Amino acid sequence: MTISIHDKWTIGAITLIISIYFLFVLFFSIEYVRVYRKSNSLASTLVHQNPNNARVNLYLSIRNIYSYLVAHKFFLNVLLYITFILVSIPFVGINTANVISPNDWNLIGIAARLGYLASGMFFISFFFSLKNNPFSLMLFSSHEKMNYLHRQLSVIALLIGMIHGFCFLLWSAKNYKPLLTDKITLYGYAIGSLIIIIFISNLPYYRKHYYEFFFATHHLCSAGFLFLIWRHHPESIKYMRLCMVMYLFDRCCRLFRSIKNRCQFDFFILDVNLIYMKAKKPKHSFFSLPWAAGNHIYINIPFLSYWQVHPFTMLNIPTDDYIELIVVVRSGFTKRLNDYLRYPESTTGYEGNQARQILPYNKVRNYSAITEEGIQSNIDLSLPLTMNGCLKSLTALVDGPYGPISNPCTIYSNVLLLSGGVGVSYTMPIMRDLIINKSKAISIKFVWSCRSAKLLELFYKILEFSLNQSHAKLEIICHLTSISISHRDLPIISSKQVGNCKLQIVKGRPDFNWYIKNFADEVKEQTFCMTACGSNALLKTVKNAVTENIRSTSDLYQHYEEL
Ligand SMILES: Cc1cc2nc3c(=O)[nH]c(=O)nc-3n(C[C@H](O)[C@H](O)[C@H](O)COP(=O)(O)OP(=O)(O)OC[C@H]3O[C@@H](n4cnc5c(N)ncnc54)[C@H](O)[C@@H]3O)c2cc1C
Repeated sequence: MTISIHDKWTIGAITLIISIYFLFVLFFSIEYVRVYRKSNSLASTLVHQNPNNARVNLYLSIRNIYSYLVAHKFFLNVLLYITFILVSIPFVGINTANVISPNDWNLIGIAARLGYLASGMFFISFFFSLKNNPFSLMLFSSHEKMNYLHRQLSVIALLIGMIHGFCFLLWSAKNYKPLLTDKITLYGYAIGSLIIIIFISNLPYYRKHYYEFFFATHHLCSAGFLFLIWRHHPESIKYMRLCMVMYLFDRCCRLFRSIKNRCQFDFFILDVNLIYMKAKKPKHSFFSLPWAAGNHIYINIPFLSYWQVHPFTMLNIPTDDYIELIVVVRSGFTKRLNDYLRYPESTTGYEGNQARQILPYNKVRNYSAITEEGIQSNIDLSLPLTMNGCLKSLTALVDGPYGPISNPCTIYSNVLLLSGGVGVSYTMPIMRDLIINKSKAISIKFVWSCRSAKLLELFYKILEFSLNQSHAKLEIICHLTSISISHRDLPIISSKQVGNCKLQIVKGRPDFNWYIKNFADEVKEQTFCMTACGSNALLKTVKNAVTENIRSTSDLYQHYEEL
């Protein structure tokens, strides 16, 4: 394998990106230690020391600008592209000069440099698309968050690839080279066509409304790129080989893990458009990471579809013995699942027939809770939910868990958890984990907006045994937004105080702006973590409220999850 001067510059570009990444890892680690120490000193002395230090304030302001950019991706994208252009323009001019006439552009040299660079960017963008990516762990993050890097690096790779193509065409036209018969050029046209297809199929409209079309097109185009770039130029083969090895490694890990983790799930129709699934947690997993609160898993139900995998967030914390999921019925796979549960006659086959047996309701929930320190016991809870439809049982392949390897909120003194609807699947395990396991939190506020009374009952049943274990001040406010249900209709839940925990059920929509403002005023300079999970609209409201109400020197960490 020969390494040309262009390869050296491309490896330089990849190294630069990875070095910037490691710089972020370093910043994150320093930030982790800083927050841990600040929260620890408050937790042990209960006296907040306000250093009122100009340097600390400057640091917090910079950190808050960074958080703002991460939460508002548009500005981050603009910055990213400007930086990339500024770095790459001088770089393409080095070692590509025209030897005969140094003052002229050397089009073919620049085209070649850009071609190499596009292959290198393709490789690194592939790397960040992998679910089994060790880099995401270094940022205490999940591959979902790395997807941002994957998307932006792909856009950059495609743009560079197109500029490479135009430069080459211009040079060929100037030098009377064939443009319709040359093999390299023909493969170039094919790559250009794939760029158009992948660009169109990636538009938010298709991702949102035709996810399966987007998914299939995306994977076919990625494979197409690998093949065509490989054939386009022999110098690109080494980059494509690396992509293939990484892709195969990731896919094999996921496949073996899913098969090893297969579980028998019990299904319940919890409410209109809400399904509750529960299975015993697999004992061992293949090459996977520890389970943490707020993690999600990918589910494949071969009985319904062999090739579709869908992510769902586990309601559980690591000490639970079960995996529980709440699924909102949408229009694709989840609708097929819902139809199958409601109208089993429409499906045939062994598992389908067997599944018609109705299981007793008291099997709905049986989870472990910590009753005494270090002792785990199973508490059998029969959930007094009036389930509609039959309970069924199906085998599912489970890939995961994915997400951070530990609860990101544990090191903060104050935690505000906001969610809407099924977004509670993320915030509730985070809260239970803060209550049951050791955390630095002295105050936790949980605000949830929910339309389904059944979901509210389930939420209460899961939390019931954890509430009195809270060492921190815990305030839970559930907003019941359905106009047809009064909270008097919920016999098992009422507003109450249990130990340090105050639970309130109120009617009407929550004013997140008010909650954020109040909480920020209460916590002042203490460390503060705010996590929001729900629809895109909910996250937008919360982000705007944060921008309006948080001071530049607030010690705030923001985390958003869109479901
Ligand atoms: C990390 C993560 C955790 C999630 N946790 C939950 C949860 O706990 N409960 C819950 O009800 N939903 C959750 N979701 C959303 C859930 O994955 C989708 O609602 C589900 O895949 C929709 O399937 P469908 O074929 O019926 O969707 P469609 O009706 O085809 O599409 C509905 C929406 O779901 C998105 N979607 C469809 N398939 C996928 C997929 N394979 N991966 C990602 N998004 C997809 C589409 O872009 C679209 O916006 C989560 C999503 C993510 C990314």
